[in-house]
Amino acid sequence: MPDPEQIQKNYIGLPLRSILAIAGFSLVVLGALFVFPEFFRHSQASVRGSNPEENIIGAFPVVVPTVKYGFALDTFQTVEGEVQRGQILGQLLSRYGLSAENIEILFQRSNGVFRVQDFQTGKPYLLMSKNLDKGLDHLVYEPSLYEYFVFHLKDSLWIEHVERPVETRTQIAEGTIESSLWQAMEDNGASPALIAKLEDALQWSIDFHHLQQGDYFRALYDQQFVEETEVDPGKVHAAVYRTGGKEHYAIYYEHSDEKGYYDLQGRPMNKGFLKAPVRFSRISSHFNLSRFHPILKRVRPHFGTDYAAPYGTEILAVGQGEVIEASYSSGNGNYVKIRHNKQITTQYLHMQRFAKGIRRGTKIRQGQVIGYVGSTGLATGPHVCFRFWMNGKQVNHLRMNFPPPDPLPKEELGKFFQYRDELLAKLNNTGDKGTQTEAKGAVTSP
Ligand SMILES: [Zn+2]
Repeated sequence: MPDPEQIQKNYIGLPLRSILAIAGFSLVVLGALFVFPEFFRHSQASVRGSNPEENIIGAFPVVVPTVKYGFALDTFQTVEGEVQRGQILGQLLSRYGLSAENIEILFQRSNGVFRVQDFQTGKPYLLMSKNLDKGLDHLVYEPSLYEYFVFHLKDSLWIEHVERPVETRTQIAEGTIESSLWQAMEDNGASPALIAKLEDALQWSIDFHHLQQGDYFRALYDQQFVEETEVDPGKVHAAVYRTGGKEHYAIYYEHSDEKGYYDLQGRPMNKGFLKAPVRFSRISSHFNLSRFHPILKRVRPHFGTDYAAPYGTEILAVGQGEVIEASYSSGNGNYVKIRHNKQITTQYLHMQRFAKGIRRGTKIRQGQVIGYVGSTGLATGPHVCFRFWMNGKQVNHLRMNFPPPDPLPKEELGKFFQYRDELLAKLNNTGDKGTQTEAKGAVTSP
């Protein structure tokens, strides 16, 4: 429950300033590739269309030939636009002189290549013509950086689907914890994709709710590029997180039919329990045997840890097991209880609703979504009250030390150590691949 006295004022969450630097970096790249050339061309050609959304750029000679979508754009008259709400492809083509008959033929030929109804609001298109008075030569529609469609409209009517090659480069992200992730995301609207992957890699060894200012992380991960523009991050191969004088490593490794993160000794990390049942949350109330209850206004032990998060946030099972209760009570609201093994049971309270298929007897894997954050039952705001039983007794899971799982089998361990050392050399950049920028939040190629 949100218990004001227990919320630390300067809460340190998972704040990855460097991630923002990475986001900023990709914005700069985008800016360089797209915004600037547009400005450049407009400054050369100032013919404007009657529609303020579109700029007609005449076939003026330019210094640098601009090649886009495989066309030398400067040899065409072009009209750029964005699909407007309710705009239909046929109407657009008709406005630029394509006959109803030809539109019909084109749409028939679009079968299996392009769905005409997928002409989506807000996506860019480009019209090209050698002479706009004599109709269009091509229309290019670009639903994403990954692909575009070329509608050939002059001699033969056909549609071409072009998928841009995706290049993957292994990069390093590093940073020092300085403020809260929530704050950072709110302020900057940063994409959490890489943060989520880092959390996935380290979630068994780091409690992301107790990060300290000055904590340091470094990760070796795949970044995907389309024409030099960063798109989605791929796999995190290795990561280290330094806190309180300790270093926690996660090494991604695949063998036979198993894959996942391992520690430096080759012990699988996912055999333990996740440190928290909600991502991007904060602890609003700790396990506390003499807690003053904010609703009941009296001292009542708090046998759980409260994770505050927005309504509808996914709640994850901290380990594999079986649902033994998925039910409602006036105090708990909607709650799920999972039995993980002979000793350990966990419970998740105040859910808005259960995830699909969650009922008594459902088998659960670690990290599976079991419900969504709410405030049903005795709760003042949206949160999960997370409870942990060890041998029938409620305990503070944040204080538990579980016995480490067995490492990889002996015959596999040698291979693992060799692979681990290769990754660590790249992660720590002790190889001979040259120097590396050490600026905070730097993204570098090893
Ligand atoms: Zn609670």
